[in-house]
Amino acid sequence: MAENPSNPGPTERPLHFIESLIEADNASQRWGLADDSGLPRVHTRFPPEPNGYLHIGHAKSICLNFGLAKKYSGRFNLRFDDTNPAKEEQEYVDSIKRDVKWLGGDFDDGPNAGGVFYASNYFDEMYEFAKELILKGKAYVCELSAEEVGKRRGSPTVPATSPYRDRPIEESMRLFREMKIGRFPNGSKTLRAKIDLASPNFNLRDPVMYRIVHESHHNTGDKWCLYPMYDWAHGLEDSLEGITHSICTLEFENHRPLYDWFMNSINEGRTPDGSGPWGRIVHHSQQIEFAKLQLTYTVLSKRNLLRMVNEKLVRGWDDPRMPTISAIRRRGFTSRAVRAFADEVGCTKTESVIDIGRLENAVRHDLNKHAPRTMSVLRPLKVTIENWPEGKTDELDFVVNPEDPSAGTRKVSFGREIYIEQEDFMETPPKKFFRLAPGQEVRLRWAYFITCTGVEKDAGGNIVAVRATYDPATRGGDAPVGPDGKPTKKVKGTIHWVGAHNAIEAEVRLFDRLFAAEAPGERTGKWEDDLNPNSLEVITAKLDPALASAAPGDTFQFERLGYFCVDPDAAAGKLVFNRTMTLKDAWAKEAGREANG
Ligand code: ATP
Ligand code: MG
Repeated sequence: MAENPSNPGPTERPLHFIESLIEADNASQRWGLADDSGLPRVHTRFPPEPNGYLHIGHAKSICLNFGLAKKYSGRFNLRFDDTNPAKEEQEYVDSIKRDVKWLGGDFDDGPNAGGVFYASNYFDEMYEFAKELILKGKAYVCELSAEEVGKRRGSPTVPATSPYRDRPIEESMRLFREMKIGRFPNGSKTLRAKIDLASPNFNLRDPVMYRIVHESHHNTGDKWCLYPMYDWAHGLEDSLEGITHSICTLEFENHRPLYDWFMNSINEGRTPDGSGPWGRIVHHSQQIEFAKLQLTYTVLSKRNLLRMVNEKLVRGWDDPRMPTISAIRRRGFTSRAVRAFADEVGCTKTESVIDIGRLENAVRHDLNKHAPRTMSVLRPLKVTIENWPEGKTDELDFVVNPEDPSAGTRKVSFGREIYIEQEDFMETPPKKFFRLAPGQEVRLRWAYFITCTGVEKDAGGNIVAVRATYDPATRGGDAPVGPDGKPTKKVKGTIHWVGAHNAIEAEVRLFDRLFAAEAPGERTGKWEDDLNPNSLEVITAKLDPALASAAPGDTFQFERLGYFCVDPDAAAGKLVFNRTMTLKDAWAKEAGREANG
């Protein structure tokens, strides 16, 4: 959807802490001015590791980072943090690009596009910077195995140890070069930063910068067997791209001293004009941490989502019950709704779990405004209108979207046989049942009032059809007005219907939450134990014939039933719909079920 680029955001709300921080930086021109716009420079990035599909938590980060670039006329980069050869695949790279674009995060087109980058393209520069730290006496080659490093890591009161810490610079330099050309097996040596083995922050106890992994990489092939660790690589990636605000989640807060230590160590001895032995000062971004998005009834980490896919607990990464971006897109969520949700939950420094109902409501709110209405019947019960002539049809006006007058009206066709929802009929109803029942009159939306005159049952006593008569004076769904200006009669119930003569059949997939527990895994320690066994139901429904030409991705409201969208499984002559969302939150404790009359 086209949005006004000068519009700062969908809602007027106070600045969140990152916006305040950026505005202070802009006021002092901390990051200088952008060459093109002359405005204070703001440059953000979204740095996924291409080891899985993105989920709604990543969506939060994308909306945040892109939103800031847009709000402050800055730039936004998509950067693949592909420093780990083993788990990364092209399939993930492709899906991530598609998902970021879908969310509106324009990294390669438009005024805020900064470009798409691969951390693996910086391996040469990183290697040169690492040699610089060795020469400055700030890094050394260590020959302890990962297990030995673990054993020697010390405790808060006992420093860590490494017998290799004080080896001569030239020796580290020679070994590091040999590591690069593949002289040593996996795990036999590492390059470690020489920081502080006694630091209370264990991240500073001589962290590993490089490890040996003899494995091909999806981008660099077999060029490297030396791969940088996250903490070493990340600040350099930000630096090389000129990122101003490097936004990450709170678990990196106690990595920030390390982020800064690496950049400060590189800049030690460098000068603004490049005079001196080390050259020009390099850009040092600011790392900022915020609380990650967590949702009730949801498991987010990629590792667990991968397990759900591999163990076939779901039908794939884009199974509409999954919290991945590809899944919610397939399910019919709009990116507009996801952006509105991300903005509404805001951005804080305190961890909290967000009620998934808020995401669902954002989707309802958006679809209510934009989805055309149809009348479709999920569990059909045939009704024969006995006083309606055989073969006759009547074309009635139907308001396409009451929320959007510009959508106008269209015709729906009424005839002698129609379908209504099974649950809209009861042979022996309780007191406040205002829908169809023997002798009871009800309004068929946009059509006529009908009164039930009888039921037809099969040999087993199950109701298979209903008979009724209609009132010709109620055409359009309203009773005629009497001399006093008031309707001559009233009915309490209004139900939807579809003509049996022209209804189309389609597969409809109804979803419930994938997990039945608010905090999956909390009870037993295993989220598998909280999977909702009834999260998918597949039915065959009778749909409004206007849906025959619907294409994958199209979204509609089926009146009284929810929002539905065409699934990509749909093929010529075979329609498949996903229920995106019910009209109301059936899980909301206080809501209770409305009488639905
Ligand atoms: P996961 O833990 O789900 O595997 P990750 O953090 O390993 O996710 P990355 O690809 O490393 O995934 O993350 C890319 C970016 O997305 C990072 O900046 C990360 O901080 C951010 N991110 C990941 N999960 C969330 C979340 N739940 N809420 C907000 N941002 C997130
Ligand atoms: Mg990660």
